[in-house]
Amino acid sequence: MKLPHTFTKQAIIRRSVRIDDNAGSADFPYNNTGRPLMKLLRWALCFLLALTLLVAIALQFAPDIEPWPIAPEVPPAKPGEVSLTFLGTSTLLITDGKTHLLTDGYFSRVSIPRLFTPISPNRERIDEALALAGIDALDAIPVLHSHFDHVMDSGIVAQITGAQVLGSSSTAMVARGSGLEEKRITTVQTHHPYRFGDFTLYFVPAGHVPLPGIIENWTGKGEITEPVTPPSLLGAWEEGQSYGLVVEHPAGTILIQGSAGMQPGELDRYQADYALLASASLGKQSEAYQQAFMDETASAVGAHTVIPVHWDDFFRKLEPDVRPLPWMLDNLDASFHALADRHHGDFVVLKPFRPFTLTPPAAPATAPLPQGQSPVSPAPAAPPPGASDDANN
Ligand SMILES: [Zn+2]
Repeated sequence: MKLPHTFTKQAIIRRSVRIDDNAGSADFPYNNTGRPLMKLLRWALCFLLALTLLVAIALQFAPDIEPWPIAPEVPPAKPGEVSLTFLGTSTLLITDGKTHLLTDGYFSRVSIPRLFTPISPNRERIDEALALAGIDALDAIPVLHSHFDHVMDSGIVAQITGAQVLGSSSTAMVARGSGLEEKRITTVQTHHPYRFGDFTLYFVPAGHVPLPGIIENWTGKGEITEPVTPPSLLGAWEEGQSYGLVVEHPAGTILIQGSAGMQPGELDRYQADYALLASASLGKQSEAYQQAFMDETASAVGAHTVIPVHWDDFFRKLEPDVRPLPWMLDNLDASFHALADRHHGDFVVLKPFRPFTLTPPAAPATAPLPQGQSPVSPAPAAPPPGASDDANN
């Protein structure tokens, strides 16, 4: 049977083509509204993809650490000497062979893309780093502030090694959230001596290096008031109180500043032979800031040697040949010059997992001091009433 022309296949196709042709015309205003929006979204997506690709490429390029004076490998420390091992960021193993301290203890080193998702400690990386550093037991983990790249693993590392965690009330909340028992958590008081073997630790009020506003808001500058139970978004690990840490020992005294920030006058009462200073973002600060930072840290304690810390790319796994932060995030040379050029003494870089032995302070040339006094002893403020001298009690 022959169909009328109106119903033939060709006629139907022709009609539908005509309808499509008209879709963008003024006859079809309702079909048209979504199109510019879709176009815009497509452009935005392309732009975001291109930007992500460019950032990913830019993050592959990092400065070279080799032109800087790197401490050579040394024979193992003798009994009574203090050795220092840099383990990335401001994580440092400090030991005299009997007592073992580890600042911060951050080994998870979350990658940049994962920072946009909930994060947790990486047990495999923690175990690997502890094994490579030869750490099986620790006495104390003093935490310098509570951003994720300092405190996130400290409770887990304490559980593995039997250590006491010491730090701000924010740090205590992180340790609680990791399941560490209460008696192994010490909320510290500033300028108060905490003794572990022959080491005495003083937590000194400090500041944090200024960061761009958007990063400061993202990483958090406030206090942590609830236990942090990972996985959590990065902002859960707020800064809390930042400290400089003075670690006193008869074989040498060190100052560790976990971020390039300071509080004027706080370190004036201390003496230290070595100043381990965070360098990240220091090169981006003004000349006046850089000078004030050195005046209030290395110069305030009279350190003969400055050792930079927190210069490594902590978004990658810790390796013995760890690379510096990518150019995009920090200019290593500018940050190191800010320290080295303002210091009238030695400037030495430590490679991860390579112990460095402190040179014991020279014996005083003058008459011996009265009993009970030491030339390296700071004169801390009187301890607050009721404070314990021993954090293990
Ligand atoms: Zn920080």
